[in-house]
Amino acid sequence: MRQGSSFLALVLWAAAPAWGGGPLAVVATSSDLKALVEEVGRDRVQVESLAPPLHDPHAVELKPGQLTRLKAATLLVRIGLDHEPWLTRLLRSAQEPRFRPGSPHYLDVSRGIELLQSETPRVRPERGAHVHGFGNTHYWLDPENARPITASILAALGSLAPDDRPRFEANRRRFLERLDAGLRRWSGAMAPYRGIRVVVVHETWPYFARRFGLIVVAALEPVPGVPPSPASLAALTRRMRESGVQLLIAEPYSNASVVAQVAARSGARAVLLVPSVGGDPAAGDYLALFDLNVGRLTEALAAGR
Ligand SMILES: [Zn+2]
Repeated sequence: MRQGSSFLALVLWAAAPAWGGGPLAVVATSSDLKALVEEVGRDRVQVESLAPPLHDPHAVELKPGQLTRLKAATLLVRIGLDHEPWLTRLLRSAQEPRFRPGSPHYLDVSRGIELLQSETPRVRPERGAHVHGFGNTHYWLDPENARPITASILAALGSLAPDDRPRFEANRRRFLERLDAGLRRWSGAMAPYRGIRVVVVHETWPYFARRFGLIVVAALEPVPGVPPSPASLAALTRRMRESGVQLLIAEPYSNASVVAQVAARSGARAVLLVPSVGGDPAAGDYLALFDLNVGRLTEALAAGR
């Protein structure tokens, strides 16, 4: 058994370029996945994120440096589904067969996640900028989903570096203890606001909302990735005012003038939440991201009472 797994490891190592037993070179499609790979891998990984944290994750502009980083990586970790339409182009340019589904060098962490909004009608990309065609892809924003995501990461890192597997397991265990403490802290802070009705700009927050008891009643975008028309904004603003929606959740890359206009006309308070690690200096790691967002939300909600 021991011999068999060593042989398997040798075969896998032979397939991985430029890796001589130092930290594993990992490329993640987002700063959130980068942060979670670092929690499991610690000093045994060197992780780069392809997408910057303060950017619409569905529309990343590709630069030559990203191709270089990808080609040098031993493992690619991605959100999957149609979250990163730009990755298809990058993979086509890279022409690296090891980054294909089924390879130990390719990890799609959406496997093992219970998706929300999977009933969203599927629209082919050529018919517009629509995303979330297979279900909502912002699942890392439910901190409970860090459990299955880090389990997938542990399995992938452990298969590429079997000698380090006990270390990866211990790192993940320590991370999950901190996560559990965080969940108690965040749920406690959000408890007084369960059932609060909110409107979002993009459908970034359904997993977060479900975990902490917020009800997302509408999104400014009529279809994910499609900007609202003036007529649809006017109708939505009227409905928000009539039904007493208290909060409008925007992202750092949302259209600020549209957000300000809807907030002013509807009477809702606009709150800027950070959807990705590194999107704010206070969101330096995965747990800090939730501390920041729960803090901003509770502050905005307390001010509105
Ligand atoms: Zn989205």
